[in-house]
Amino acid sequence: MPRKLFVTTALPYANAPFHLGHMMEYIQADIWVRFQRMQGHEVHFVCADDAHGAAIMIAADKAGKTPQQFVAEIAGGRRPYLDGFHIGFDNWHSTDGPENHELAQDIYRALRKEGLIAERAVEQFFDPVKSMFLADRYIKGECPNCGAKDQYGDNCDNCGAVYSPTDLKNPYSALSGAAPVLKSSAHYFFQLSSARCIEFLQQWTATPGRLQPEVLNKIREWFATDGEGHVSLADWDISRDAPYFGIRIPDTADKYFYVWLDAPVGYLASLKNYFGKKGWDFDAFMADPAVEQIHFIGKDIAYFHTLFWPAMLHFSGRKTPDKVYVHGFITLGGDKMSKSRGTGLSPLRYLEVGLNAEWLRYYIAAKLNARVEDIEFNPEDFIARVNSDLVGKYVNIASRAAGFLAKRFGGRLSADLGVEGRALLDGLRGASGNVRELYEEREFGKALREVMLLADRVNEYVDRHKPWDLAKQAGMDAALHDVCSVCIEAFRVLTVFLKPVMPALAAQVEAFLKISPLDWHDATRSLGAHTIGTYQHLMQRVDAKQVDALLEPPAPATITPGGEALAAEIGIDDFAKVDLRIARIVNAEHVEGSDKLLRLTLDVGEGRMRNVLSGIKSAYKPEDLIGKMTVMVANLAPRKMKFGVSEGMVLAASHADEKAHPGLYVLEPWPGAEPGLRVR
Ligand SMILES: [Zn+2]
Repeated sequence: MPRKLFVTTALPYANAPFHLGHMMEYIQADIWVRFQRMQGHEVHFVCADDAHGAAIMIAADKAGKTPQQFVAEIAGGRRPYLDGFHIGFDNWHSTDGPENHELAQDIYRALRKEGLIAERAVEQFFDPVKSMFLADRYIKGECPNCGAKDQYGDNCDNCGAVYSPTDLKNPYSALSGAAPVLKSSAHYFFQLSSARCIEFLQQWTATPGRLQPEVLNKIREWFATDGEGHVSLADWDISRDAPYFGIRIPDTADKYFYVWLDAPVGYLASLKNYFGKKGWDFDAFMADPAVEQIHFIGKDIAYFHTLFWPAMLHFSGRKTPDKVYVHGFITLGGDKMSKSRGTGLSPLRYLEVGLNAEWLRYYIAAKLNARVEDIEFNPEDFIARVNSDLVGKYVNIASRAAGFLAKRFGGRLSADLGVEGRALLDGLRGASGNVRELYEEREFGKALREVMLLADRVNEYVDRHKPWDLAKQAGMDAALHDVCSVCIEAFRVLTVFLKPVMPALAAQVEAFLKISPLDWHDATRSLGAHTIGTYQHLMQRVDAKQVDALLEPPAPATITPGGEALAAEIGIDDFAKVDLRIARIVNAEHVEGSDKLLRLTLDVGEGRMRNVLSGIKSAYKPEDLIGKMTVMVANLAPRKMKFGVSEGMVLAASHADEKAHPGLYVLEPWPGAEPGLRVR
């Protein structure tokens, strides 16, 4: 019985291009989808841009665009990534599309009708200049714990303390700089704390096979249990006040859904949009109990997908997800890179330097399993794995046999294959069920290890029978024909097993073998006395230089700001050698006999004054400088000049060509800086 599958990946936030982490998730889901299609199952695979929220609204405002323009530009850049890495979504939509507005509002109305929406007043910081409530990230101030300045509203970078924005000392809006005021506003809450919700979620999450064991353990931590064994969850604040880029809450004038309410609804909206284009019945499909709804997501958003999302769907009378498949992050490692999240590696750059998209698909697949584990992109390992497995083991089988078949047998395969050859092929075909199970379970690494072990067996067979020797011996034509035909048959079976991971390569193989597109059942069939086409080289080895090019920082900009190129790169240690201090200009006067210099008397908080001769006479009158704060190099060796000893240097900006671009600007710290404070 063909399955009916509705598969999604997490919706990327539409404020930036894709990074390697996105590509890993899409590759994982795409492999699984292609595998299911090879089984003959019906699969609908969709995604969309997550377009709403304060972050996008503010980023768009900064860029001088409407939020709609801003997200449209990001969405317009998605195609090269998806096509470039063979990600076969059936549809790409946006959470700002009309389907999502309608579905999110329908779900909300249903939840309200169920009595699961509560209205409560919330005290929140409000920016009086921008006329908007401020999210935690947009409030800064002094840490209530250690006093560090410029800390965010939710936690302190300096001491690590976690607090609420209202605890900050001297809070200010990061958007306008204004002091925020506390203002009360009505918020809407989805009552996850209700007994009905908790009962449903405990039952839903514990359904066997629905969630990975690690995810289930995490969820049990999220359910708080009191001393009497009562389980609780906090209600979820689902509303935000205008101005907000999002979906208006029905029957309100100025309330919007919090972006995380309408984001997952975007899965349904994208499917509905797709069905609309096809003229299919979306409601009938979603009402079909045979449909399996499957979400691939990262571990950082498991909370939303295993609590909020199923509860929203269930209590609005809709189908809930059958499976939520959670994966870890991808990190960068290896000798040349310190470990970091794979957000710095550009997938487009990968393609630009000439690296093959299917190398990355294979490498990522070889590292993936069904658990919530981080995987590492290690450049040295990447090169070794692709060259050894794909080129050395797999492609090699075809290249060793194809030439003899073309030259000696007109490309026609032997129907006999010999006893040993038939046994080898039976072994390969017999592995089909095991490899299929591993793909189904998302144990891609194990599946590919199994396939490479099978390739090893084929290569051992070739090494035992040595076609290159048979070709030189008289009367060994039939043996040579059998051995080469076995290689091609084996290569075809291995191609079936690799096709979910490497669809483009499989298409090349299908053209070379002159066969119709391979599905999973082709692994257990035989080609017989079929005539194949001409072999053309299928895959290059990875060149380490390409990988170096990928990891190199981008070429320096050719523009020369301020009329001169940037100085050679330095490390933080080099910078630390220069001791910059805040200085107060206590006195400034002309230097007799000099038309360039002013004599400055500077207080750097040392209990003594410093004498500094500074070439700023062309730009400043002494009386304009007295009493001002500036920045000086305080550990510069004293220099004996014609007009006296100078004990440091004041910082000023100028163009490299001062004649063509006159102007000299002494640096001045923001108000509050005291003499002697170090600049770092
Ligand atoms: Zn602190």
